[in-house]
Amino acid sequence: MRLVLVPTPIGNLEDITLRALRALREAEVVACEDTRRTGLLLRHYGIPTPTLRLDQHTLGRAKELLAPYAHVAYATDAGTPGISDPGAELVRMALEWGWRVEALPGPTALIPALVASGLPTHRFTFEGFLPKGGKERQERLWALAREGRTAVLYESPHRLRKTLEDLREVYGPRHPVAVARELSKVHEEVFRGSLEEALAHFGEPRGEFVLVLGPKEAPLPEGQGLAQALRAQGLRGKALFRALLERGVPRNEAYRLSLASSETMEEE
Ligand code: SAM
Repeated sequence: MRLVLVPTPIGNLEDITLRALRALREAEVVACEDTRRTGLLLRHYGIPTPTLRLDQHTLGRAKELLAPYAHVAYATDAGTPGISDPGAELVRMALEWGWRVEALPGPTALIPALVASGLPTHRFTFEGFLPKGGKERQERLWALAREGRTAVLYESPHRLRKTLEDLREVYGPRHPVAVARELSKVHEEVFRGSLEEALAHFGEPRGEFVLVLGPKEAPLPEGQGLAQALRAQGLRGKALFRALLERGVPRNEAYRLSLASSETMEEE
């Protein structure tokens, strides 16, 4: 049993390798998120392999759906299966079933965005989509600001402004960002500037976006240092505890640090 993950173009039909085309041709079936979309690609290259829908809604039945086949190619809507799409879950399942899993190299949105950003590429972190809201989102944002690495994020057009606003809050308005829009499509654009400028530029965002944030020059300190900085702002006890939690410090550490701060306060 063999599963071949086939990267497909993120906008320009020419961005597909010869090996990917052969893999699509040689498989018994091409499982894909959207049979219409992948069907267009197959037709464009004259590949007659049948398609089978396998997206996040049908993934639960993957074993049963794939049972008739011994050689399956998997393609997602765009880019490399397994990067912020159902591919990762399918790989996990296929390995569990004892299948041989092969991943072909090819197009993905994060690498062209990172490289075109002009920001440091030697160390970076890929964050995919941030959690949509709540504590998890706050924790992730503050954890990012403690990173000394370039960060790459995916975002949908209707959430772009909210995410830029939240990042401005955490990183500061002048922090450098590159916003890559519609990569390898007709309206491709890479905006480079500060978070503030990006917000002014993208009034009504349309298209697909990758955000690349420059590394924080002085990353926010870990627990102890953060607690000191917050105490310097006058936060104590419960308020300090809550502020530490919001900034992604684990609960028990935040508790210890806020307790330590009230003890120190009493000593003062
Ligand atoms: N598997 C894909 C990959 O390898 O990049 C990512 C799939 S994820 C569901 C879709 C997200 O990728 C979009 O919301 C956008 O953030 C990013 N993306 C995909 N194509 C893009 C493009 N042509 N230009 C900019 N961003 C793109």
